[in-house]
Amino acid sequence: MQCPNCGKLKSRVIDSRSFRNGTRRRRQCSICGSRFTTYERIQPYGIFVIKKDGRREQFSRDKLATGIRKACEKRPLPTGAIDKLIDSIENSVFHQGKHEVLSSYLGDLVMKNLRKLDHVAYIRFASVYHEFADIGVLKHEIDTLVDHSPAKSTNQLPLLPLEEKKPPQNPE
Ligand SMILES: [Zn+2]
Repeated sequence: MQCPNCGKLKSRVIDSRSFRNGTRRRRQCSICGSRFTTYERIQPYGIFVIKKDGRREQFSRDKLATGIRKACEKRPLPTGAIDKLIDSIENSVFHQGKHEVLSSYLGDLVMKNLRKLDHVAYIRFASVYHEFADIGVLKHEIDTLVDHSPAKSTNQLPLLPLEEKKPPQNPE
């Protein structure tokens, strides 16, 4: 199991707990001491993701996790927040009760969840997912976020430093 902090493969299990569909293990990296969690689960049946070009690919929690972790890289998120997010997305996929889901459904689900968690991670994911060909589209996404992000928001860090906020509109 690769340590998410240092990338080394030596870790030991410090806690193991079974739950409905699998086992949750707390691990500690033997090299850097970081703690992380792994889940081993029974997949009731294979779910396929249908891509935009029509190709089908087996749904993979690992692949989902990789994309999300990349988007969340170096973001100051609370411990376990990313795992929780991945769990919640995976559960939504399974609870659909379908054998196939569209990749756009999955992408939108990730975006919706990331947006609630961290705006920077959301923008990073969105820029990969939408393959923003046009920087204008990306800018629009960011503007939408800035406009809608409440100043009193408790756990969201501001997307931009306050002094970079747009000046008040001139009423002319
Ligand atoms: Zn490590």
